[in-house]
Amino acid sequence: MTATFKAQNGFGYPDSLRCLRCGLCLAVCPTYRERGLEPASPRGRVALAQAFAEGRLKATAGLEEHLAACLDCLACTAMCPAGVRIDALVQESRGALAQRRGLPFLKRVALKQVLPHPWRRGVAAQAVRLYRRLGILAQTRTLGLKRWQPTWDIAHGLLASVPLDGARPRLEGTHPAQGEAKGRVGFFLGCLQGLAFPQVAQASVALLQRQGYEVVVPPGLTCCGKPLAAHGDLAGAREQARKNLRAFASAGVEAIVTDCATCGDFLQGYGRLLEGDEMAGEAREFSGQVQDISCLLSCSPGPARDGGKPLRVTYHDPCHLARGQGLREEPRRLLRSIPGLELVEMAESDGCCGGAGTYNLEHPELSLGILKRKMENIAATGAAVVASGCPGCLLQLRLGAQRHGLALRVAHPVELIEESLAASSSS
Ligand code: SF4
Ligand code: SF4
Repeated sequence: MTATFKAQNGFGYPDSLRCLRCGLCLAVCPTYRERGLEPASPRGRVALAQAFAEGRLKATAGLEEHLAACLDCLACTAMCPAGVRIDALVQESRGALAQRRGLPFLKRVALKQVLPHPWRRGVAAQAVRLYRRLGILAQTRTLGLKRWQPTWDIAHGLLASVPLDGARPRLEGTHPAQGEAKGRVGFFLGCLQGLAFPQVAQASVALLQRQGYEVVVPPGLTCCGKPLAAHGDLAGAREQARKNLRAFASAGVEAIVTDCATCGDFLQGYGRLLEGDEMAGEAREFSGQVQDISCLLSCSPGPARDGGKPLRVTYHDPCHLARGQGLREEPRRLLRSIPGLELVEMAESDGCCGGAGTYNLEHPELSLGILKRKMENIAATGAAVVASGCPGCLLQLRLGAQRHGLALRVAHPVELIEESLAASSSS
């Protein structure tokens, strides 16, 4: 094993030696389904990463591309009979590659200089608003930037309808419990949720309050670290994790709740991420406190089952909720508790939507191919609403509805519950 791999302190490589080359993982891999090539499959990525770790393969652009094209959807890891952690192996390999040449300039600026800083995110949001107003997309079409056209099209589709006004200033602080007090919880406000879906974050906090929780959104929170880790910058991800631990250190909360599946999955892994670090103890304790909102709410009595309009809803399982955190029934139970809501299952409800953070911008063709299958499965249910508990999935599904001409509302389960409760209390 190379020194670079050891430096990542990873367990993906030793686990990968158990690979039987059986090929069972090929059937569940969205990128293999799209490309039909061995290097685009989990088994192929295991072989590439092993060869790289053992020094049999050089750090080439081709290797980087095959590893970068993995969605981190966990489908292969979840079904591998030998227990190979393909997700960990891919992440460690990306880390080793990033250590050699650093993150590319644009990614470094976006993930380290903009995303974790609220005011810089605000400036970026202003720039996007200007971009929307001036219709720059139409102009780039005439500038010969054909190579970037698919990415521009997706970026434009993704950004066309998000409010970008930010929930953070409204939510930072302490929100009192309503009714019988159940406890004091922290709320982790994810970057994307706060910026693109402020109404979801507000609904989550309001629901927790309604259910008797005092809710603390501490100042000083930053990105959970997942985007940096996914691009191989584990040192940067650890730095962000420490900042979040410090932000919650004096909050005195019994649980830390999030409404973002990807943030939740990553926050639950802080213990492992900071193994051997001076904050390892705090990280382990923090990891054990993190819960997805669907778990906390479904463990509490649901809203009353009276009144309400019939609504046909289907549910898309976010990869990092269903496979990452093992939560499949909890969000469905929440949805079924809404009066008059009919929950219809789609085929392959836990199949990746192809969003995967910035994957849709970096691999537009692959992402759109994967999204097409998801939208066909949704359309076949005849649902008026698709619900999902991850802002990345929500953005991607909204893009899918636009591109496939579907009259489909895309919503987080907490929005539907909060709307139902607000309607029943005003009637
Ligand atoms: S990673 Fe697992 S499922 Fe895939 S070929 Fe190896 S042993 Fe089989
Ligand atoms: S995590 Fe998903 S995309 Fe990546 S190799 Fe596994 S199944 Fe394929």
